[in-house]
Amino acid sequence: MPRSNRPKRSKGAKREEPVDLDLDRALRGIKRTEIKNGVEYNVQSSSGANAEDGKTWVCPHCNVNIQKGLSHIVAWDAHRGVDSRRHFHGACWKSFQGKLL
Ligand SMILES: [Zn+2]
Repeated sequence: MPRSNRPKRSKGAKREEPVDLDLDRALRGIKRTEIKNGVEYNVQSSSGANAEDGKTWVCPHCNVNIQKGLSHIVAWDAHRGVDSRRHFHGACWKSFQGKLL
């Protein structure tokens, strides 16, 4: 990340308050990091368009399928790696405060 023109906050740690999800930006699949419940997550949005035919994901927060073509959030534990990733509805990810199983 070469750009660092955001105002500096001297609040210590690298914890950042998750900025309200900017959908436009999110749709371009920008990866970011969020801390939830002390766990660092890599978070990326997906347009859902590249899902394989007939493939759906079950959102671990509400247990409802995420249909193909529905933009959503892909999140994974930064330490466990991308294999632990899960697909969330955008709103579900925002309220999700637990740990990925
Ligand atoms: Zn959900």
